Amino acid sequence: MSQTKPRKLLIIGGGFAGLECASKLANDERFEITLVDRTNHHLFQPLLYQVATASLAAPDIARSIRQILADAKNVTVLMDEISSIDTAAKHAVGSSGTIYPYDSLLLAAGARTGYFGHDEWAKHSLGLKSLADAQNIRRTVLSNLERAELTTDDAERARLMTIAIVGGGPTGVELAGAFADLVHRSLKSNFRRIDTGKLRIILIEGSELILETFDPDQSAYARKRLEKLGVEIRNNTRVIDVRAGALDFKDGTTLEAAAIIWAAGVAANPLTASLGAPLDRGGRVTPNSDLSVPGHPDIFIAGDLVSMKDSEGKMVPGVAPAAVQMGAHIAKILKAQASGDSKRPPFCYFDKGMMAIIGKNYAVVKTGKMQLQGFIAWLAWLFVHIMFLIGFRNKLSVLLGWAYAYLVNTPEARIIVYPPAVPSPDKSIPPPAA
Ligand SMILES: Cc1cc2nc3c(=O)[nH]c(=O)nc-3n(C[C@H](O)[C@H](O)[C@H](O)COP(=O)(O)OP(=O)(O)OC[C@H]3O[C@@H](n4cnc5c(N)ncnc54)[C@H](O)[C@@H]3O)c2cc1C
Repeated sequence: MSQTKPRKLLIIGGGFAGLECASKLANDERFEITLVDRTNHHLFQPLLYQVATASLAAPDIARSIRQILADAKNVTVLMDEISSIDTAAKHAVGSSGTIYPYDSLLLAAGARTGYFGHDEWAKHSLGLKSLADAQNIRRTVLSNLERAELTTDDAERARLMTIAIVGGGPTGVELAGAFADLVHRSLKSNFRRIDTGKLRIILIEGSELILETFDPDQSAYARKRLEKLGVEIRNNTRVIDVRAGALDFKDGTTLEAAAIIWAAGVAANPLTASLGAPLDRGGRVTPNSDLSVPGHPDIFIAGDLVSMKDSEGKMVPGVAPAAVQMGAHIAKILKAQASGDSKRPPFCYFDKGMMAIIGKNYAVVKTGKMQLQGFIAWLAWLFVHIMFLIGFRNKLSVLLGWAYAYLVNTPEARIIVYPPAVPSPDKSIPPPAA
């Protein structure tokens, strides 16, 4: 039997999964949707590293959620941070004190930076999950260069001109390549006292290979490209402590670096603990095959909060296309349910492959059996991101502005701005040490 009264759907998180679900149910009068996000914007995280490395300005990769959903008359967008979920009372509570009742809930609050049980390392390092994080990294690196130009102390100059990036996955590799581009190309002629070419970028990886999820020859290619750009790679190097301005390694050595960037791990948003479902080591939930939470047929979970194999037995990765596909799948189930169809098909992930950019003009791409590397892979990267941003920005002119800013490096993106305080929307990540 189909429903008579609109169903109250609460969506926590306007990221890839939450936004897709809301968009697919837009203007369907059978749903009264409230989308709550702690920020006012949807963030295109794959390009965060470009904001961190001063290639793009923050607004280039974010868009107001309210604006995106302006035409969805059945969706109310509210900016609030959900602090708990009461599954028995069927409501969530915001840090504003607001109670959000629901008939169905989609928890899509994404991941945060993970420190392998050493949350104290967060205060001495810079994570990269939010726009505030990206701006912290950019501010720290650019300020360090200014201080290096000022100082007459050689050792201090060397410390200020060292960037340590922990984690040789796509984020670490993309950051290292983009920092190398920044100092060797964009900033080359801007300083008089320091030689920006002497800036050390050190990429630290605990295992044998960087880009471990790619094929070994692509990993080797990425390593060669980064080394050509002047990046030092320390593989098989385990961090055992992160202190103010220094990293200690398992082999007994220490590295002094004024900027320490942590790109080594992710953990699920702590809200998953409110669900009463078993969690994996990263705080993720393994949902039922239809993406509902075990024991709660009206609660769905999606995106980076999920650890699961899909209906074909493939492990679903924590990437944007997976989050989008999950959001769409949940919308489909909710629509069917509203039409009186109780069938809940299992989620099946369509793998579009993965890519990582290694400085401008070079990338690696792996999709199915096809592998690309070099300039052609970079063109593929550019095409995919342009196609995505056409949908995202909605206007070709804005997109062309973005492409121009990226290709020439937006000069404004290099301006250092000190806000009165630097609150990260993720409270687990305090502002960096001065
Ligand atoms: C630096 C970086 C680079 C990446 N590169 C790629 C890439 O190249 N390709 C790719 O496919 N994927 C990439 N990813 C991964 C991809 O961005 C994620 O898999 C995707 O964003 C997950 O979508 P989601 O909807 O689960 O969460 P998110 O997109 O993270 O959205 C979560 C939303 O929830 C909100 N939120 C969090 N907590 C609360 C709360 N308590 N109350 C209210 N709102 C809350 C957040 O503000 C956010 O808007 C990258 C991620 C990072 C960090």
